[in-house]
Amino acid sequence: MSDLAHSVFGDDVPAKPLAVIVDLDDTVCVGFDCPIRVAVDVLARIDRQKLTVHYVTARTDVSRAGTDRFIMDHRLPGWRHVHYCPKGQGSKSHKAQVHVQLAKEYRVIASIGDLDEEEGEAARLAGVPFVLVDRDNAALAWAELERLLEMVGAFVAREASATEGG
Ligand SMILES: [Mg+2]
Repeated sequence: MSDLAHSVFGDDVPAKPLAVIVDLDDTVCVGFDCPIRVAVDVLARIDRQKLTVHYVTARTDVSRAGTDRFIMDHRLPGWRHVHYCPKGQGSKSHKAQVHVQLAKEYRVIASIGDLDEEEGEAARLAGVPFVLVDRDNAALAWAELERLLEMVGAFVAREASATEGG
């Protein structure tokens, strides 16, 4: 909550908007742009009005075009919210800094990633729950994240049934 918002709302501060923090490499994709299917399936179902997806990555700005394309190709939410690592900054410090900042602006439901010493550490520093991706079984972590997101109603309601034929 900003100082301005606090001066306007006093103690009646509105609830922070919901967010989730997602690592890219070996969490959503492998080999830069090969999707991890379970990850894409969970992310694509998120209701963008209810929850904002922030990607926090060790990638630098030189990867922007390819990253944008990946996000578009798989219709993932959050393409405006990719936090690239500034040149000259270590990925660990970058991830820590962005986690702390996002935790101030949002109620971050969880951070998910495959590196405990980077995004795991960053999440703990920011007081955000962390879900560790096992590279040999990413489905486990994504199921856990799905459960957390379901608890806050972050998904688009499924269609009751598709109309078939015509
Ligand atoms: Mg990673």
